[in-house]
Amino acid sequence: MTISSSIMTTYGRIDIAFTHGKGSYLFSEDKKKYLDYASGIAVNAFGHCHPKLVEALKDQASKLWHTSNLYRIPEQEIVAEKLVEHSCTDRVFFCNSGAEATEGAVKVARRYAWANGEKDRTEIICATGAFHGRTLAMLAANDRPLFREGFGPSPKGFTHVEWGDIESLNNKIGDHVAAILVEPVQGEGGARKAPKGYLKLLQDIASKNGSLLISDEVQIGMGRSGSLFAYQQENIEPDIIALAKGLGGGFPVGAVMAKAKVGDAMIPGTHGSTFGGNPLAMRSANTVLDLLLGDDFLKNLKENIVYFDNKMDVLMSDDKKRSSVILCKKGSGMLRGFQLKENVSAGDFGNISREKGLLLVGAAENTIRLLPPLNTSKKEIDEAFEILSEVVKEIKKN
Ligand SMILES: *Cc1c(COP(=O)(O)O)cnc(C)c1O
Repeated sequence: MTISSSIMTTYGRIDIAFTHGKGSYLFSEDKKKYLDYASGIAVNAFGHCHPKLVEALKDQASKLWHTSNLYRIPEQEIVAEKLVEHSCTDRVFFCNSGAEATEGAVKVARRYAWANGEKDRTEIICATGAFHGRTLAMLAANDRPLFREGFGPSPKGFTHVEWGDIESLNNKIGDHVAAILVEPVQGEGGARKAPKGYLKLLQDIASKNGSLLISDEVQIGMGRSGSLFAYQQENIEPDIIALAKGLGGGFPVGAVMAKAKVGDAMIPGTHGSTFGGNPLAMRSANTVLDLLLGDDFLKNLKENIVYFDNKMDVLMSDDKKRSSVILCKKGSGMLRGFQLKENVSAGDFGNISREKGLLLVGAAENTIRLLPPLNTSKKEIDEAFEILSEVVKEIKKN
């Protein structure tokens, strides 16, 4: 083992280190090539070292890195303008990660209620299976009791309802509820797409009750759903959106987006971030947005999503013919997964896949998750499914 003992052991790391990446591929120290359908957990939206991203960062690196938010940052204004133009929101706050974005979203929701004189409207309703990040407050928002263990008293003001179940929500809603916080497609929770019409019902119930709807699009946002934002496929308009992961294409950046009346509750001094939205981060995000919004990118992506989905069906029907490893396909857009049969371990599946040159990620519900770069080619999709089919065969042999 060459793993450094000075690193805090918060991760059970795989003993591979990569030296470089190109497009959808990663290359390791021991000279192996991997098709990267983990994408740094949905971060490398345009794979590795996309020439446009490299160019933008190199250019900015020789000009200006950081000034703090004590001054205007024109690069922020450009990115915010684009996010606003292409969404239902009007105000943007930049941070550095997903947990900061979701926690920031909760702050905005509570502050909005408070500014309206509703001082007791503080509760945040979350769903079972939810994952919103690892800060202390988000540990309370997550449906992961184990993540909270040993970290002291859990912040109050978070409650959970059964994912997809309106009855369960109706029992918890009330004028103490500031917001409903939900992932349109749960990532860590097992690549679980919200049941049809669920988000619309959430929005209706929220607005009837004077509560806000927060769409946590940290993983599914920025094109991964096939639309720029996942909510756009559901005929809803969230009041607040949390973004991160793909937003910087590999550079750490997150954002809280809000409708004007909501976002304007945040007056000077109510929130901040030293690093948030620095020029390097903004050049990355701006380039990612240009790539997503350019030419026919989203149209081609939608085609590839259909292509990918068909491949999933073929893999499952091949699997069925000779007993089975896969239980069902899950997810949506380019956040997909296979739930495996109980007697097959997702961990083993991932290990065999990696040995065969395909990187993927695990998720709850014994699910393997596939998070391709959004610009992956049909040829690469073919390659991935050839490997997946070999993995299935190998698991059956054992
Ligand atoms: C990853 C993730 C987060 C947390 O993001 P970090 O950058 O790890 O803090 C929050 N919400 C969702 C939906 C995520 O997938």
